[in-house]
Amino acid sequence: MESNLNSININDIKGVGPAKETAFNKMGIYTVKDLLLYYPRDYHDRTIIKKIATLDVDDFVVVEGLIIKVTHRRIRRNLSYIKIQITDGTTIMNCTWFNQDFLKSKLHVNKKYLFFGKVTKNKFAYEFNSPEFSSDKESFMKIVPIYKKNSLLTQNFIRKIVNQALLIKENQFNDVLPISIKEKYKLLEYNESIKNIHYPESTSLFFEARKRLVFEELFLLQLLLLFIKQGHKEKSQKLPYLKDEYSSKLLSKLPFTLTNSQQKVISEVTKDLFSNHAMNRLVQGDVGSGKTMIAIVAMLLTIENGYQTAFMVPTEILSKQHYLNITKMLESFNISIALLHGKMKANEKSELLEAINSGQIDMVIGTHAIIQETVKFLNLGLVITDEQHRFGVEQRALLSKKGENPNVLVMTATPIPRTLALILYGDLDISIIDEMPPGRLAIETFMVDESKRLRINEFINQRVKNGEQVFIVCPSIEESEKLDIANVTEVYEKSCKIFNDFVVGMIHGKMKNSEKDKIMKEFIENKIQILVSTTVIEVGVDIKNATLMVVENADRFGIAQLHQLRGRVGRSNLQSYCVLYNQSQSKKAMKRIKELANSNDGFYLSEQDLIQRGPGEFFGTKQHGIPELTISNLYLDGHILKQAQEAAISLINEDFALSNVEHKFIKEILNKNIESIVLE
Ligand code: ADP
Ligand code: MG
Repeated sequence: MESNLNSININDIKGVGPAKETAFNKMGIYTVKDLLLYYPRDYHDRTIIKKIATLDVDDFVVVEGLIIKVTHRRIRRNLSYIKIQITDGTTIMNCTWFNQDFLKSKLHVNKKYLFFGKVTKNKFAYEFNSPEFSSDKESFMKIVPIYKKNSLLTQNFIRKIVNQALLIKENQFNDVLPISIKEKYKLLEYNESIKNIHYPESTSLFFEARKRLVFEELFLLQLLLLFIKQGHKEKSQKLPYLKDEYSSKLLSKLPFTLTNSQQKVISEVTKDLFSNHAMNRLVQGDVGSGKTMIAIVAMLLTIENGYQTAFMVPTEILSKQHYLNITKMLESFNISIALLHGKMKANEKSELLEAINSGQIDMVIGTHAIIQETVKFLNLGLVITDEQHRFGVEQRALLSKKGENPNVLVMTATPIPRTLALILYGDLDISIIDEMPPGRLAIETFMVDESKRLRINEFINQRVKNGEQVFIVCPSIEESEKLDIANVTEVYEKSCKIFNDFVVGMIHGKMKNSEKDKIMKEFIENKIQILVSTTVIEVGVDIKNATLMVVENADRFGIAQLHQLRGRVGRSNLQSYCVLYNQSQSKKAMKRIKELANSNDGFYLSEQDLIQRGPGEFFGTKQHGIPELTISNLYLDGHILKQAQEAAISLINEDFALSNVEHKFIKEILNKNIESIVLE
């Protein structure tokens, strides 16, 4: 039974003493079940023997060779090596091990062995450094797993322990999937899959195992999302809107003409609002494409037709900016707009809550403070979530619950591939703004290293002398907010000295609101020319005069985040620039930064992000109780995803209550997850 598996501690496996147990615990592995669900990050295929003469440098290969010569040397007290020469008839090859004297007794001249390792080459011959070897073909010629490990455990040790766990506890997991689904989608049995995901018996079994596990993971995720969204569609009857004088008036007085894309999306939104079904729409548009206008028009329509509206944004800075801009834009209309955030004074807040509850306030703009229980609306007709990718599915749901079946508009600057949008926003219609306001120049992006520091400083000077403004962004250091602030402060202090002709400001998440407001206001008014900040400015902030963004340690950011950051400049007809400091040696980081330097296309970049980082982080599913994806890649596993979605939908149609015994395990799992979301 599975409960058993769960209760078998990792230290019950022979060879796992207290020290190793702690090491496993550090990787989140406490039980045998945890261990078996700790999937390899990669594999080495040792099932094919290569001829030495045909090898390629840097490949991992198996070679079968006869030992011609063994040399053992002690160079000094702590350094010795064993070097052997082998041949397979095509040519010779060398293998070297350092400080492993005990191997000498295992390597015999004129005997044949299999060797596995990474190929290198010196002037004369191919070489393996510390290859694995064996004379037992059957045990050696396998596909072997590579686990993510920590410094306390060796790869071989983890392999050995997993192998033992598989042997002792064979066939112990419950198979969650009903037989009909397994048959329809030709899925491998669960325990077979677990075995083959660790030690694939063949390449094809590996793919089958992986498919099965990916399917199950996505199937459960789909079910979970479907349950969260449950009922939404059925309840969507509502009174249609009738009037649109306000929005026509606003649009006729805009200082700019809407882009074709904006017009198209506004007409889609308007059509929804005038229908007798609640709107449920996602607007995707790259940073700077003008999504806020869509929100404003939708809100104005809502208010004119007698309903309240709520506009939720991820940061306070952004909520204030929206508040200021929208208040100004809607000056000539007789509507009351309020700003709501978490850190308001108690009496101020209770007054505001009362005004919202009594219907005096038409439009509430705020952070997630809006979804707190104490916030009650009289007749909420429309809820908007800005920068949806920063919120979880559940927060979006909570906002909708503030009204009786309100219209829902979510906006995101993260253009996600359509298949993915379908899952995460499965119940939403999608509108896309694929056009920038006219006259925008592409942002010029450069990757630089420390050696360019003086030149970049001079460039900053020039921009400011030109009357323009500059952001200097410092990365978050994940483990510690304190370090973040120390880092920002240091950069700030340096910048004050370097740019002492100008006013340099600093802003970060830990500052008091009043302080943040003051700084932002001064930056907007160009009283501050250079703003040093953490990523608090990442989303939405719109300062047209800012034309240069310098990112310190760009190597610590993901692609999508850098693209978002960069979107803070290039918001007017002035040429803008983004300078990305690469302070790391990592090839991957360099590749990420180069992607940015080469492309301004949000769609392309977000795909790259997804491929490189995997979807868990990308969607922030982790923070919202939605199970973390351990094996699937939403981007690469699109076809399995489709099947999983189809299966989930038909299961729900068939047995919504999950009362069929065959669905017992599914019900248990979902209950656990939904509970954890609700508890949050
Ligand atoms: P985002 O899509 O990133 O939320 P915003 O709505 O903040 O973009 O718009 C970016 C800037 O472009 C704002 O200053 C806005 O006033 C301006 N803008 C929006 N639509 C147009 C347009 N059609 N023509 C010119 N400027 C526009
Ligand atoms: Mg925006």
